[in-house]
Amino acid sequence: MAFFRIHNPLPTFAARKISYPRLPARLPSISSQVSHRKMSTFKQEAHKDLLYSKDAQIFLISGSGTLGWDQVASNLIEPGEDVLVLNSGYFGDSFRDCLEAYGAKVDSIVAEFGAAVSKSEIEKALKAKKYKAVTFTHVDTSTGVLSDAKMIGETVKAISPETLVVLDGVCSVASEEIQMDAWGIDVVLTASQKGLGAPPGLSIVAASQAALAVAQSRKTPVTSYYASWKKWLPIMNAYETGKPMYFATPPVNLIRAYYTSLKQITQVAPSLEERFKLHKEASRRVKDAVAELGLKEVPKDPYYAANGMSAVYLPDGVGVGDLVPRLLQRDVVITGGLHKDYKEKYFRIGHMGTTVVNAERGDLDKLVTALKESIREAVASKQSSLLDRGQEPYRRPETTPKRPSARL
Ligand SMILES: *Cc1c(COP(=O)(O)O)cnc(C)c1O
Repeated sequence: MAFFRIHNPLPTFAARKISYPRLPARLPSISSQVSHRKMSTFKQEAHKDLLYSKDAQIFLISGSGTLGWDQVASNLIEPGEDVLVLNSGYFGDSFRDCLEAYGAKVDSIVAEFGAAVSKSEIEKALKAKKYKAVTFTHVDTSTGVLSDAKMIGETVKAISPETLVVLDGVCSVASEEIQMDAWGIDVVLTASQKGLGAPPGLSIVAASQAALAVAQSRKTPVTSYYASWKKWLPIMNAYETGKPMYFATPPVNLIRAYYTSLKQITQVAPSLEERFKLHKEASRRVKDAVAELGLKEVPKDPYYAANGMSAVYLPDGVGVGDLVPRLLQRDVVITGGLHKDYKEKYFRIGHMGTTVVNAERGDLDKLVTALKESIREAVASKQSSLLDRGQEPYRRPETTPKRPSARL
């Protein structure tokens, strides 16, 4: 059989080009039944381990991570109901917009750039108003800020046990620990293409039994057709039991690739615990290298810095455009900022999944070396052009930011 290899088409988090699991170039005749067989064992086995949940319901639907927001907004929230969005960057804005599109009344607590919403702010908001749901971005990909999922789940459940806790894990699942049951998280929404290392195109949502009950007991109709859990629940059950059933065509090829990736993550060494530890170690290496160069991270407090990516302020006078080609030459892909007010000021690097776990690839060494060389080169070239024009050259800051040991 012929094979082809898909490279990450997005200029995003790959520390170098990621090669995805090989897929058959020509799929066998596609019928929805094919995937039913391939889907069995998903719910009970792999997701239970990945998200530490004994009975979460999994929805696997063709679409990107964004579809997870639509699923939450249209199944769990009735028009006019109050939702609290904890906003630590760009993706908090978008989640709010999506909720509002379905008629939710949204209050946002917007953290300062580089910070996460604090416990006291959450407590204050929950004491002032009853919310149907609290949503937060676990790792906001725009800022590299990691929210404390355990604190948020526990805080919400302590003050308002019926309020659903929704975690946007598109950038965190499989690189950060998420204990759905123990931390009181009702929904985790994610996608196939970031930490899960499969091609893009699959929306993955895990809903607690409490969340399902809320969806099933709503008074008004579900406000989406394609994203309706009422439609998908029997299909997911059919996937598990291997029965043929149709609502909308499943992305058979993606489901297979995802299945391969998920099995790798949950069943093949390293263990999940070890995987999270490796992400923390890799993150520290990258962040130490950045500090050594005299650069500052966007997250203000290392406790709130993601382990699967880094967001770093550019040296004075150096633009993203000075850095991207230099790194690309060294086979490393980085991307610019993604926050409306600061996007020219920082860049982002991904270090998750295979880059971190498969040390034999040597990706991390390559990334750290390339980063150091490229930044020094970009700074030097700016300085020489400034000197040519008789201006003050860039000076390295006197003190390099110290990194206390982050959470381990
Ligand atoms: C990428 C991302 C999304 C959106 O996912 P798409 O697959 O691009 O639709 C949502 N939330 C976070 C935190 C993300 O990083």
